[in-house]
Amino acid sequence: MTERFVVVGAGTMGVGIAYVAAGSGHAVELVEVDRERGGAAVRQLTQLWDRAVQRGKLSAEQAGASRERLALRAGLAEVAEAPDVLVEAVPERLDLKRAVLAEAEALRPGLLGSNTSSIPIADLAAALARPERFCGLHFFNPVWAMALLEIVVGSATAPETTDAAVALAGRLGKDPVVVRDMPGFATSRLGVTLGLEAIRMVADGVASPADVDKAMVLGYRHPIGPLELTDLVGLDVRLDIARTLQAAYGDRFAAPPLLAELVSEGRLGRKVGRGFYDWTDGIRSGGTEILGTAGGASDGAGSAAGAAR
Ligand code: NAD
Repeated sequence: MTERFVVVGAGTMGVGIAYVAAGSGHAVELVEVDRERGGAAVRQLTQLWDRAVQRGKLSAEQAGASRERLALRAGLAEVAEAPDVLVEAVPERLDLKRAVLAEAEALRPGLLGSNTSSIPIADLAAALARPERFCGLHFFNPVWAMALLEIVVGSATAPETTDAAVALAGRLGKDPVVVRDMPGFATSRLGVTLGLEAIRMVADGVASPADVDKAMVLGYRHPIGPLELTDLVGLDVRLDIARTLQAAYGDRFAAPPLLAELVSEGRLGRKVGRGFYDWTDGIRSGGTEILGTAGGASDGAGSAAGAAR
């Protein structure tokens, strides 16, 4: 059965979710309010399908059929009522997500999910009239490559909604974990801890980004290091998550000044070509210029990038 799938937000995650949903046979409406980003999302999806054909992962017919199943929308007002599944993937800001979810709920989706990385589902559900149909549907980046779907069960989420989310994971080829609603859930709370500490270590001059990453890859068998992962996720996204976790758990999640500094310089990671590393032509290089020198500088003023440059 072809399900109607709506994805709101065509950024890093929305594009990935749309790609996987269309590839699983769903008719996907991808909603993006920023016209330029909407166009870029469609180009990226086309590239993904072309590459899958070149690599022999999809036939030209399969890729063409997936492309046919995708439609770009400039706003939720353009979406027909009652999609089977609606996933919100707009930036990690409580007020924005609440507003989008309230508008999305009015379309009466069968299952309503948020791709939030850290915001408690209960805080988002407060904006909803039918919170029993709502849960966290936390996909991982890049969505087509990462097997996990973290399903976050809020206090108002009905058991049927959790069951529907688990069944959806199966239809999308994902392996689910079902977790209790706490800020940062089971994944971001641990993953961001490692990422923030790695940034403090670079600011303190312990080692370059490449060597901190290499230490984790070769010494701890991580598939990629925490700084490369931060570049992949987006430094702005990580900063938003750190702020949510700091509000919930205190200063152990306070973002190091270096992270905020790089974000304010527009070094948002791979998506803009520069973060901890340079990503020209998609190839990782550089990173040494942000190596700090002063021990303990990561927590204090006048630290990090300033000291290093
Ligand atoms: P992003 O900034 O790349 O994309 C968000 C998109 O939403 C932007 O294109 C923006 O224009 C669009 N948008 C904003 N308001 C909108 C609205 N009202 N209607 C439609 N579109 C709107 O962000 P992202 O990295 O894709 O993250 C999205 C969510 O997924 C966040 O909650 C983030 O925490 C979570 N997440 C991110 C990652 C990651 O690796 N980047 C991984 C897992 C979860």
